[in-house]
Amino acid sequence: MLTYETWDNKIREFNSDNPTKGALDVLKWAYETYGDELVYACSFGIEGSVLVDLVSQVKPDAQVVFLDTQLHFQETYDVIEAAKNRYPPLRIKLKTPDLTLEEQARKHGEGLWKVNSNLCCSIRKIIPLEEELGGVKAWLSGLRREQSPTRQNTQFINKDERFQSIKICPLIHWTWKDIWRYAHKHNLPYNILHDNGYPSIGCEPCTQAAINSDDLRSGRWSGTGKLECGLHEG
Ligand code: SF4
Repeated sequence: MLTYETWDNKIREFNSDNPTKGALDVLKWAYETYGDELVYACSFGIEGSVLVDLVSQVKPDAQVVFLDTQLHFQETYDVIEAAKNRYPPLRIKLKTPDLTLEEQARKHGEGLWKVNSNLCCSIRKIIPLEEELGGVKAWLSGLRREQSPTRQNTQFINKDERFQSIKICPLIHWTWKDIWRYAHKHNLPYNILHDNGYPSIGCEPCTQAAINSDDLRSGRWSGTGKLECGLHEG
């Protein structure tokens, strides 16, 4: 089994010249290899809607974790409920941080995301994901190469230094059009904010409608220079 400790710099390749561009093959390999030691960290954006559907075809009772910062849009919580109803065997868990919003405000001040977004992301996303990944060998992510320059070198299988784990990304070859074609064809539940100018959706205080239609992530931490929350760095 490929683990963080035994990683030998060989990136396993899959045939991506098929209808899911390799995604189902990657998922079958991943679940055969890791079984319950594989967790899908899902943000429930449109890529999440697609990947949840693909995962459910391969492992109907897969573990899915959503990092519930308690600062998400209601529309995001709505799509999670829709996914629970559509895929009842999936084990969808909402992971919350140790600090409530009130405790965070008492300790670090009101609106920490405005003054120190890295600390806020660390408390509300990074540490909770570290806790979730502590007992597993590998995790799944819906990253696509096309999403941003920071993601264009992502492979199907990646050594993840930050979480000392293996990060598996089945959708790397999917385009924005591929994602939507699949979502509509299969009538998937999706976050309705996507229909209102939000191609990428995170916490409410740090997300606005895209300000540049060519940059799908331009509405995230807009004007701050921040590109990623830290889950996909390092
Ligand atoms: S995205 Fe914004 S609100 Fe959410 S955890 Fe990061 S800094 Fe905090």
